[in-house]
Amino acid sequence: MDLDRRTLLRAGLWGSALLGANTLGLSRPAEAAGPTPFRRIAVEEEFSTLELLLAQRKVLAENPPDEPGFTRFWGTMADSLGIWGVVQELVGLPGSRGLMRAFDLGEGRIEAMDAAGIDMQVLQLTSPGVQIYDAAQAGDLAQSTNERLAEAVRAHPDRLAGLATIAPQDPAGAARELERAVTTLGLKGGLINSHTRNEYLDDPKFWVIFEKAQELDVPIYIHPRVPARDMVKPFQEYFGLEAAAFGFPMDASLHALRLILSGVFDDYPRLQIVLGHMGEGLPFWLPRIDKKMALFASVKEPRRKLEKPPSHYFLENFHITTSGMNYHAPMKLAHEVLGPERVLFAVDYPFEENEDAVRAMDAAPFSDADKVKIYQTNAERVFKLSERAGPGA
Ligand code: CA
Repeated sequence: MDLDRRTLLRAGLWGSALLGANTLGLSRPAEAAGPTPFRRIAVEEEFSTLELLLAQRKVLAENPPDEPGFTRFWGTMADSLGIWGVVQELVGLPGSRGLMRAFDLGEGRIEAMDAAGIDMQVLQLTSPGVQIYDAAQAGDLAQSTNERLAEAVRAHPDRLAGLATIAPQDPAGAARELERAVTTLGLKGGLINSHTRNEYLDDPKFWVIFEKAQELDVPIYIHPRVPARDMVKPFQEYFGLEAAAFGFPMDASLHALRLILSGVFDDYPRLQIVLGHMGEGLPFWLPRIDKKMALFASVKEPRRKLEKPPSHYFLENFHITTSGMNYHAPMKLAHEVLGPERVLFAVDYPFEENEDAVRAMDAAPFSDADKVKIYQTNAERVFKLSERAGPGA
């Protein structure tokens, strides 16, 4: 899409935004046709590859992990959508649009961004990522996925950036891959799709990954997935409850709390974790978590005594994104609890629509200055996006 069309589309979008509560400093639609005063950067934007899809099909059929949540949810989705009929899939089936769009790391994706006025996407491998494989396969898939992602970023360095898939099944290998992906591929941090075969990253055997992230000064994005083996059963009587409807945030928020309570942030105080979906509900719970964990620590000595209350670490070591949460009530809560420096704009494309997320953030009841932080400067700081997007950029 040429610049003129982009500008016009953006002007139309901005024109409609003027009907909302905030005008981002634009007093009339005609001004919106000029250069935009900030970049819209969306930071939880997902992709997949055919290699990953086929690997997932094979592991489900031949060697499923001991994860009833994964096998049942994804097995049902696959049967329902015909996902494993790759030929069918490639001609397009109703309901599979999200997955098809996930494979597009080029022009189709860029056009969808242009249509909504999104300047840059920070890409990550869609859930469940490589968490479901044994160590050797997960490590190989992480490397090949990172190569593919870096190739896409090199083709559109001003529009795409990416996070490195890493496989905690081999913690030292994951740390090495994070370093390789950041230093030689130009990726901007690590991506882990929550638990790895039912194991959470609060186990110190995984902390070599966090040590490396702190050393490289890059964040780790923890994206949700279907809850682990011992947690998923009560969700499963209502299909979908275990997934993005509710199970995803329950799993990811538990994961984040386990990290906080493990003391990992006392050991790695500069480590930064990114959570999607408005912080997976945690901003709502922080004061009560502090109060009750202090009470219970007086009853039984905790596994590790923390230097600060749990909320301290959430406010110092986490950033949250707005992915899939285009609702002003939770947006306002997160903004108030974390402050405008720790909230980042995200869409959750292709599983959510770019236009919906932009419309919601444009109309959010925040100051123009805070919107610039949420749309642009926080992402630039956290993911170092103002630096080179990748080799050759
Ligand atoms: Ca997502």
